[in-house]
Amino acid sequence: MARGNRSDQGAEPTDWVTRAADDAIRHAGIGEGEDRLITCASGASPSGPIHLGNLREFLTPHLVAEEIRRRGLRVRHLHSWDDFDRFRKVPAGVPASWAEHIGRPLSAVPDPWECHESWAEHFKAPLRAALAEMGVEMEEVSQTERYRAGAYTEQVLHAIRHRDTIEEVLAKHRTKKAEPVAENDQEAAALADSVAEADEPAGSGSLARFPYKPYCRECGRDTVDVTAYDDETTDLAYTCASCGFSGVTNVATQHEGKLVWKVDWPMRWSVEGVDFEPGGLDHSTPGSSYTVGKELVKRVFDFRAPSYVAYAFVGFAGMQKMSSSAGGVPTAADALKVLEAPILRWLYARRQPKQAFNIDFGAEVVRLYDEWDSLGRKAADPAKRDAQVLAFERASATAAAGTLPTPPVVVPFRLLSSVADVTAGSAELISGIVDRAGYAHDSVEDLQPRLGRAMTWTAEFVPAEDRTTVREEPDAERLANLSEDEQRWLAQLLDRLPAELDVDDTTALVYGVPKLARGLALDDAPTDEVKADQKAFFRLLYELLVGAERGPRLPTLFLALGSDRIRRLLTPSA
Ligand SMILES: [Zn+2]
Repeated sequence: MARGNRSDQGAEPTDWVTRAADDAIRHAGIGEGEDRLITCASGASPSGPIHLGNLREFLTPHLVAEEIRRRGLRVRHLHSWDDFDRFRKVPAGVPASWAEHIGRPLSAVPDPWECHESWAEHFKAPLRAALAEMGVEMEEVSQTERYRAGAYTEQVLHAIRHRDTIEEVLAKHRTKKAEPVAENDQEAAALADSVAEADEPAGSGSLARFPYKPYCRECGRDTVDVTAYDDETTDLAYTCASCGFSGVTNVATQHEGKLVWKVDWPMRWSVEGVDFEPGGLDHSTPGSSYTVGKELVKRVFDFRAPSYVAYAFVGFAGMQKMSSSAGGVPTAADALKVLEAPILRWLYARRQPKQAFNIDFGAEVVRLYDEWDSLGRKAADPAKRDAQVLAFERASATAAAGTLPTPPVVVPFRLLSSVADVTAGSAELISGIVDRAGYAHDSVEDLQPRLGRAMTWTAEFVPAEDRTTVREEPDAERLANLSEDEQRWLAQLLDRLPAELDVDDTTALVYGVPKLARGLALDDAPTDEVKADQKAFFRLLYELLVGAERGPRLPTLFLALGSDRIRRLLTPSA
């Protein structure tokens, strides 16, 4: 095609979500007129706070399911809570006595904070709330409930009958396993966790690596050794290393255990008919869960592994001041205190999953909002629809929730946070100032949900040294030592400063005073001399008003402080 060819204008833009949806539909084998339910799956262990890196696990299948739904096909986002996984270690901040629960299912460990019925529920709840705010709807499955109800019994027995094949596959991958490389500490911790949850042996001798492990009937822990298994009766005998109990569980009729992780995952692909599932990069290295699962699901469960997307790490910055609920690692709820829900979705929608990125809660937040607002303006023009706009659309709305909340009157986050910074005032006060700054609106509600976030960000995320401190009292010493130019500027400013400030007149006045001092009119173009004077004048104003060399834009600062206060701080005492 010729350079500059515009023939593709109007064509549907595509991105990674489009391609992942294509793959999922292909996996489901849906042809013309077929109506099979397509399943996009996610899974997470509610063992601790679910941080923003884990959020990729949820948003990746969500976005893909939304794309499939958009095409008019039947689809569900199925989320498995791995709450039947063992409690592995007592984190900092939890009483040491919780060590007693190590080895029990997360759903059977009490909530140390006593607000939920279990450890697992304590960590599910905040994520569920954040996802609801982000318009993510999913069909949730508790592995505890499924296993306890015997929903997988047929597959468990099938896996046990094929345990030699399973061991053959696992052994092959075990020897091939490459040492995963972590890029930083957080990632190293995640990798250590994923290695720890690998196929731990459940028995010894001929029952080494038995694929199924019961929780001890006496103490509830998984510290059991399988000592005998009868293929005829499906009786499984075990002894518990923790409490010494020896017992027998019948795998067909008593639902007391689970398949080891690397067998459990592919088993569920086949039971649930999973067509698409993402996983962390550490799950897709040689010898890891997906690689092994892909072979197991084919050889043991007669199913083709779902189309798969590996996602990279999400890092964080700018959180010096932040009191995260996850001990320094922010969660979705933390991010939603500062970012509008569509913007948080956009961070994940706009990048390929394999691309790592950082979320910066510092000054970068202001630029992020600017970028988002500018993309919103672009998206309003159908002629400019491209992959960037597509990501904007994916972030902005869902089939079920419709358009997610955004402010009816869009005011730059930069302005809202500046005014919040200078006034440290109420939403009503800020709303009044913003109105006079050129963003007319009827009520505080017209600025939400952004205004509240700007206030929170300013108060909780901006480091003290970057905050603006308005002088309580005039700087008497500086005012007593003004140069002649400075005296003239201040006199001309105060002479013309009206009692009620509006943004246009204030801007003209602040920039115009150095022109007046050089014999020009307020609206004359500045000469080079005037430009130099403006710089010096602005520095003087910052010094006298906020005791710093710089600060928020001067018109914003003037509007936020009000005429009387400005006058008081700029007037030399008689
Ligand atoms: Zn026991």
